[in-house]
Amino acid sequence: MSYHITSDNKVKIALKKILKENRTINSQKRLKKLIVKELNTKKKTFGVSESRLRKIAINSNFVKLEIHSREGDPRRLLVKCPVCGSSLKRVKNLTIWGGEVTIEFSCYNCGYWTGKKKRIPTRYVFHLKEK
Ligand SMILES: [Zn+2]
Repeated sequence: MSYHITSDNKVKIALKKILKENRTINSQKRLKKLIVKELNTKKKTFGVSESRLRKIAINSNFVKLEIHSREGDPRRLLVKCPVCGSSLKRVKNLTIWGGEVTIEFSCYNCGYWTGKKKRIPTRYVFHLKEK
């Protein structure tokens, strides 16, 4: 089966419609399924990857992304945001009690952050952003 590539804008329109109907979609896989169903026509089958879909959602102004994660290896170096692929900014955090400096990384694009114990995204929940 051949898949057609669709424009970001078409995906965005489908995404908005689906979120308006459902308010919350609790997995990326389910969202993809709904989007593809929305985009497909009798003549054309569309494909959109989950990571592309997530990036489109992040760059839209009507999606609130909730990131579920597990703890990862503290030695692992993160350069790029595992959620959206932007470069991570190093944020120094001075803790008041011990005077200890912990370094965190955060992404200004999607709001992902991590401390020393790396947060590895495991599941994404998509909410319709309330006005
Ligand atoms: Zn990000």
